[in-house]
Amino acid sequence: MKLRLLSLYPDQMNIYADRGNMLFLQHRCEWRGIDFEVTRCGPGDRFDPGAFDLLYMGGGQDRDQKAVARDLLETKQESMRKAKETGAAILAVCGGYQLLGHSYELEGERIEGLGLVDLKTVREPGPRLIGPVSIEVDLENEKRVLAGFENHGGRTRLGASAPLGRVLHGHGNNGEDGFEGVREDNLIGTYLHGPLLPKNAWLADHLISTGLEHHHGERPELEPLEDSLEQAAHEAALAAARAG
Ligand code: GLN
Repeated sequence: MKLRLLSLYPDQMNIYADRGNMLFLQHRCEWRGIDFEVTRCGPGDRFDPGAFDLLYMGGGQDRDQKAVARDLLETKQESMRKAKETGAAILAVCGGYQLLGHSYELEGERIEGLGLVDLKTVREPGPRLIGPVSIEVDLENEKRVLAGFENHGGRTRLGASAPLGRVLHGHGNNGEDGFEGVREDNLIGTYLHGPLLPKNAWLADHLISTGLEHHHGERPELEPLEDSLEQAAHEAALAAARAG
């Protein structure tokens, strides 16, 4: 079996060690004897949507987002749409998450997003939404808790698209409606980073299973791993969120 990961803008969209998410996916595949292949996709690059099972885009500062937003529309929009339609797993974090929606408005400027999901982000007056966060999600018909860290000025509001989860502690999409992230088909967008996957190993495995199903047509039964360190990382992140 093989998982083919496309890393979108690894140099521009990588804050808070978001790249650690990819290393974690790689190790969990390799520990199970699953081949793992990473392709970098930067400014100006186009990609074949049928050639990847998992697409990943990390967070970025406003200026990095501006730089990649135009390139996303010019060189990657159609392939992103196809990848989503054909069931590839997509994970986008923070600044990457915001760019999946229709737009990000800040200081009188409007950055056009991909419009893959129905949401908008606006930099409204008020403090940045920063701190540890935990959310309850329902993936694979099982309620689970994700723990992480958020730091965003933009407030995201969902239209018809569904949230990834419900905020237990922290701010979430906008600090008001109690929702966090977005989820549609096999696409997940979230403000949680820090990095997200090492603190929530089951989510990494969910993405690996979804990606392998996309490639091989069948959802595999993943071999369990010795996860005591991952469990400790999750509990520490959760305790930080509870303590506020
Ligand atoms: N620039 C965006 C904001 O502040 C996203 C930041 C991030 O990716 N951490 O809202």
